Amino acid sequence: MKTIGVLTSGGDSQGMNAGVRAVVRTGLDEGFRMMGIFGGYKGLIDGNIRELFATDVSGIISRGGTFLKSARCLEFKEEPGIIKAVETCKKFGIDGIVVIGGDGSFRGARDLTLHGIPCVAMPGTIDNDIVCSDYTIGFDTALNIVADLVDRLRDTCYSHNRCSVVQIMGKNAGWVTLEGGIATGATCIIVPEVEFDFQKDVIDRIEEGKRLGKDSFIVMVSEGVFFNVKSNKNYQYVVDNDIDSPAKLAKAIEKATGVESRETILGHVQRGGSPTARDRIVAAEMGNYCVKLLKKGISNRVVVMKNEKIVDYDIVEALKMEKPFDVERLRMANSINI
Ligand code: ADP
Repeated sequence: MKTIGVLTSGGDSQGMNAGVRAVVRTGLDEGFRMMGIFGGYKGLIDGNIRELFATDVSGIISRGGTFLKSARCLEFKEEPGIIKAVETCKKFGIDGIVVIGGDGSFRGARDLTLHGIPCVAMPGTIDNDIVCSDYTIGFDTALNIVADLVDRLRDTCYSHNRCSVVQIMGKNAGWVTLEGGIATGATCIIVPEVEFDFQKDVIDRIEEGKRLGKDSFIVMVSEGVFFNVKSNKNYQYVVDNDIDSPAKLAKAIEKATGVESRETILGHVQRGGSPTARDRIVAAEMGNYCVKLLKKGISNRVVVMKNEKIVDYDIVEALKMEKPFDVERLRMANSINI
């Protein structure tokens, strides 16, 4: 192997740049020619590629987003798209690729490896929803942003004796909501993975808080609660009660408790800004590890974190793994937070 390409794919996350930097610098240090593929698998199909040198990745370690850009590419999911991508690799002399993205991007890396271009992948997403990894790059930064923004909401809720219903981004997973809820002391934490009872888990908790002398409340709800996916334990509740948005949830809370309630959707602000030290460091370790695997002639692997250690798994096996939601942690949060 002489030339390694690197791409970022799927939803962006903070720390992707730090990952690309680590891949490029390690690759150059190991004697490879390094190529940046711009715009994910779409860039690979279109040949949107240029050689990267050490200084091309200078100054990006602290920047959010991805300077390689990211994209979703339907064409790449079909055989003709993959074949075009393989042809591009041949044209540019790329004989190995590091993919930074989520599990959709891992499937792409598997397909490309099966078509003769050895790939390794590493997890970049704020959602921490990659089943084979305890941690994904961007999660810590997103969490700190959530904590900061919810703290701000708490200040204004306190002044006006309000309840703030905050919708948290995280796709079908409740990890950002759970950890964000622990970090901010939210009265209610509602995630797609754990069934909730509006009366018991929301209204009764707010009433108990009132009884203890509280007059402002934070209710954190994952966006995924409102998605219709198989894994969503709360979707039927949402449909049956016509509470299909944080605004309607806020109204229902106000009606039941008399506490003035407002909704806030944090949305894409969770995905921007400078990555935390943890995200930069994990990105550096994983990026370095990916290149070392390719150098050893190992591919079709995903590089992940397990018990605070960087390890690698076969992509196909990794995609089949399970990461059960930490219900105990939610119970802990509920026992601390009122
Ligand atoms: P993420 O990587 O964040 O999970 P997506 O699921 O959107 O994001 O996947 C990113 C890209 O990976 C897709 O746009 C597509 O190009 C590629 N991809 C996704 N699923 C597959 C698949 N089953 N086979 C091949 N490529 C895929």
